[in-house]
Amino acid sequence: MDTQQEHVIRQVGERDVKYVRLMFVDVLGLLKSITISPMELERAFTEGVAFDGSSVEGFTRISESDMLLVPDASTFQIVPSLGSATTDPVGRMFCDVFNPDGTRSHSDPRYVLERTMERANKLGFVPYVHPEIEFYLFKMPASLEDELIPIDRGGYFDHVSGGLGNEFRRDAVRALEELGISVEYSHHEGGPGQNEIDLRSVDALSCADNFVTTRGVVEEIALSQGLMATFMPKPVIDFPGNGLHLHFSLHEGDQNAFYDPGADYHLSIVGRQFTAGLLHYAKDISAIVNQHVNSYKRLWGGDEAPAFVCWGHHNRSALIRVADHKPGIHTSTRVEYRAPDPALNPYLAFALIIEAGLQGIEQRMELTEEAEDNVWEMSDAERKAVGISALPRSLEDAIRYLEESSLVPAVLGEEAFDFVLRTRLAEWTDYRRQVTAQEKRQLLRLQ
Ligand code: GLU
Ligand code: MG
Ligand code: MG
Repeated sequence: MDTQQEHVIRQVGERDVKYVRLMFVDVLGLLKSITISPMELERAFTEGVAFDGSSVEGFTRISESDMLLVPDASTFQIVPSLGSATTDPVGRMFCDVFNPDGTRSHSDPRYVLERTMERANKLGFVPYVHPEIEFYLFKMPASLEDELIPIDRGGYFDHVSGGLGNEFRRDAVRALEELGISVEYSHHEGGPGQNEIDLRSVDALSCADNFVTTRGVVEEIALSQGLMATFMPKPVIDFPGNGLHLHFSLHEGDQNAFYDPGADYHLSIVGRQFTAGLLHYAKDISAIVNQHVNSYKRLWGGDEAPAFVCWGHHNRSALIRVADHKPGIHTSTRVEYRAPDPALNPYLAFALIIEAGLQGIEQRMELTEEAEDNVWEMSDAERKAVGISALPRSLEDAIRYLEESSLVPAVLGEEAFDFVLRTRLAEWTDYRRQVTAQEKRQLLRLQ
């Protein structure tokens, strides 16, 4: 065992931790966990913990179902009780997934991102991500068919005095800070019952772990308060959707490679090339950053969600926004990618976004003109004239780009790519055969 692993075992003893949760995500990004007793911890570090990979989406074929989880000691945290009745201290760690022969599983989303981080490191960069996580809080419905009732009537940045949302955000932020996750700010979002929690910028792998943890913590706190939290991209037709704006920067030692004091918006050549790469591959990666049928209901062309491939400065209709750097904090220059929604798998999404940007840098891609106008209000002909194309409008549309992509299979590896493609097609096929309430309203006549 290394010193970090020994440190975890010591902490578990000192804090009298009774259970340790070993966490990982499947290829769709859903959090999975196995709980072990502290007595098993040393063996987990040295030999791994076996689990049946064939029962977890996307890991193995049936014939080779035994997989191993090896906890990553650097991710150890004591879990706050989150309103649960038992107060026994619980620890948690994210795990790396191994094949029985001791090699890393290529389909482990964490490994996909680690491979991309290593590639960035070879070019001299450490990618950093700051996520803006939006979600709705609804009263717990008795059934999924019921109308969703938001917990308040607030809007953007409203301080709803006495509103449950303020209390909820305070509990969530406290729990996240206890888990060692720094929250930059939190506020009410545009829709009634809609909230946002923004995490501090950290390296992309830690950010993906933090994001998955945040999703779980928010859901658990809501449940403990009899509420339903959802990260569904578009839960209610008349309310804005849930976005996951991701701010990227590349650090080069202690410098931010995106910062150039003399450049437009302080965005360096490297930052411009990264942005150009991301615009170039935006359609290829759509089925990963917006992986569900429902994702495309959010990207319909309004509600401050992007629908066209372009970049801008103050332009909220743009797919990528280069925000003002914060005065005095020169390292804060970053590019904000506004397409993703919080129902994604962050490991796969971050890996693809970073790789798209790195290719932009390596191939010295030129950034197109910035979009000044509100691109939603332009006609198709006007957009065409300035070279602005549409993002995929449905999961089916996104799958077509995915099938043709050379970037996505190269980053995900063949096994994970095949799985993603298969499950996206299955979701679309299942959706195609649905008969919706809208169709019934249009075509049925009550006698
Ligand atoms: N909720 C909007 C979306 O779906 C974003 C609102 C904002 O600008 O923060 O992307
Ligand atoms: Mg927001
Ligand atoms: Mg934003």
